[in-house]
Amino acid sequence: MSEQELRIRKIRNGTVIDHITAGNALNVMKILGITGKEGLVVSVAINVPSSKYGRKDILKIEERELKQEEVNKIILIAPNATINIIKDYQVIDKKRLKLPAELKGFPKCVNPNCITNSGEPVETEFYVVQSEPLRLRCKYCQRITSQDDVFKQF
Ligand SMILES: [Zn+2]
Repeated sequence: MSEQELRIRKIRNGTVIDHITAGNALNVMKILGITGKEGLVVSVAINVPSSKYGRKDILKIEERELKQEEVNKIILIAPNATINIIKDYQVIDKKRLKLPAELKGFPKCVNPNCITNSGEPVETEFYVVQSEPLRLRCKYCQRITSQDDVFKQF
């Protein structure tokens, strides 16, 4: 365990999301619906020095596991994140997130006139043009949905 990781305390059971793009830990909390009123013990480290990425955020959530659906959203704003599942202070599972080349069903297209926003039963589909900051090109209308546009949907 490196010095940086010790800046916030170890947890017994729960989830550690590491290598979150610096400054995005609060957005990840938003995705997870964590407001502080759930009674969960959450530790947040923001702009921690990282040998790999310069700076990073870390989020430790006790007694909480992530749903796949939540992971699929986190990946959009923290494409380098790793998710560690902790049991009895040990990492029992470690997942490195990887942004796919194409996305389906989430997020919404930014273009209000896009067929995917018209009430037709057409799911959104995007090509990932760039991962950081995120840029998605709609397969139907070709418009670019940016990371900020995605944030507004959480
Ligand atoms: Zn579109």
